[in-house]
Amino acid sequence: MERKVRVRFAPSPTGPLHIGGVRTALYNYLFARQNGGDMLLRIEDTDSQRFVPGAEEYIIESLNWLGIEIDEGVGKGGPHGPYRQSERRDIYRKYVQELLDNGKAYIAFDTPEELEAARNATANFQYDASTRMKMRNSLSLPKEEVDKLIADGAKYVVRFKIEPGRAVKVNDLLRGEVTIKSDILDDKVLYKSADDLPTYHLANIVDDHLMEVSHVIRGEEWLPSAPLHVLLYEAFGWEDTMPNFVHLPLLLKPDGKGKLSKRDGDRLGFPVFPLEWHDPKSGDISSGYREKGYLPEAVVNFLALLGWNPGDDTEIMSMEELEKKFSFEHCSRAGAKFAYEKGKWFNHMYLQEKSDEELAELFMPVLEKEGVNAKDFSPRYIAKAIGLVKSRVNFVGELWDHAKFFFKRPESYEAKSVKKRWTEGMGGIMEELIGILSEYGDFTSPEIEPRVLGWIEEKGYHLGNVMNAFRLAVVGECKGPHMFDITALLGKDETLSRLRTAINRLGYGPAVTE
Ligand code: GLU
Repeated sequence: MERKVRVRFAPSPTGPLHIGGVRTALYNYLFARQNGGDMLLRIEDTDSQRFVPGAEEYIIESLNWLGIEIDEGVGKGGPHGPYRQSERRDIYRKYVQELLDNGKAYIAFDTPEELEAARNATANFQYDASTRMKMRNSLSLPKEEVDKLIADGAKYVVRFKIEPGRAVKVNDLLRGEVTIKSDILDDKVLYKSADDLPTYHLANIVDDHLMEVSHVIRGEEWLPSAPLHVLLYEAFGWEDTMPNFVHLPLLLKPDGKGKLSKRDGDRLGFPVFPLEWHDPKSGDISSGYREKGYLPEAVVNFLALLGWNPGDDTEIMSMEELEKKFSFEHCSRAGAKFAYEKGKWFNHMYLQEKSDEELAELFMPVLEKEGVNAKDFSPRYIAKAIGLVKSRVNFVGELWDHAKFFFKRPESYEAKSVKKRWTEGMGGIMEELIGILSEYGDFTSPEIEPRVLGWIEEKGYHLGNVMNAFRLAVVGECKGPHMFDITALLGKDETLSRLRTAINRLGYGPAVTE
């Protein structure tokens, strides 16, 4: 019988979730959804030294923000709980004992100093079949001494007894069958009596087994651990439930070789975390995609394509489409360059998909920050203003720069354009324009544009100068959307008032620059 697809995202709460970790979570999720399977969230917090408060909450909030839904796990519950490893001590203890009883593991008492001495004495020292009998452990010491040490409360670890001379096969769906010799593996520590907790390796595979995980999809950095995990599955006699492995390629620096790091983000000015992170110890703040103004759909789409493609040129794909199209067949084995500029493009594209009303909602905090009382404007007005400028921006935050004149009168006029456009007699021409515009009640009238253009032609005025002077008076600078769209939205009173103010301030020309 085909096994039900069950995947897990198993982060360690050692800090903010890195964007590479988010991609791992996303690929797990897409694979689960595509196969009608389950997506688990397990928190691997067995390393108390590296535990960072707030990291677990951060992980959950990040997944929520991106729409990566969890079916089972921390924050959700389920039949295989608890899903936080620090709450599973009793379970692990039992499995550690099983390995000890079966002679697959042993107890070792070597102190950090003794281990250091062994490392200094032998080049490339490795705790394994060739050295273990020279160390202090339950294989090299008499049983009475071992019992006494334990009874006296000596600190110990449990080590996995790796048999040399074995070829260990890891079946990776991306890389095919990878074989390594067991001789290169060391007798990994599986449990530490000092914290009464297992290490990552034991907890990870015991949980994958108990939680019926069918596919282990994780970052390439875990590939070296995979042979050990295979051997542990065997040691427990769980070969039949061995998961399929997928080790995803690294995310690389945008401008070169090597793993993407937080420093690259600082250096090149892009976030490497989904959400802003406030380090509880140092107080440092690291920027996040959410706070930078990225839409979650854009981040998901962008990340999905870092290491995978749909087999054609399609770039814009919703979560539902990604769920349908995703496959490991089209995953690359080579690292993916973190093309963050492309991320901006995705955001731009998703922003255009939003209705003006939705964008207006997102724009409210920006208005407030800029000291505009949104209540002075109707929701329809705000939405229309956004509709006129949205094609020019990548982020909601950038809308202000392009739309501010809809909410604030120009405080000054851009000097260079004044000099160029507010030519001799321009004040008088603008007065004429006021006269013409006054004939109309409704500024949305399609008649205004031909009427104004007709007047300019009739009088033989310089089209560019007159229209740009008009724009300067209304906008404050020579940029923005179509002039008659602007005046239609501002309305008659506001447009005429701005023209009058400009005439008062800039005079009858030529340019009196302020
Ligand atoms: N706790 C590991 C991590 O932080 C999990 C690795 C795995 O998925 O096996 O990524």
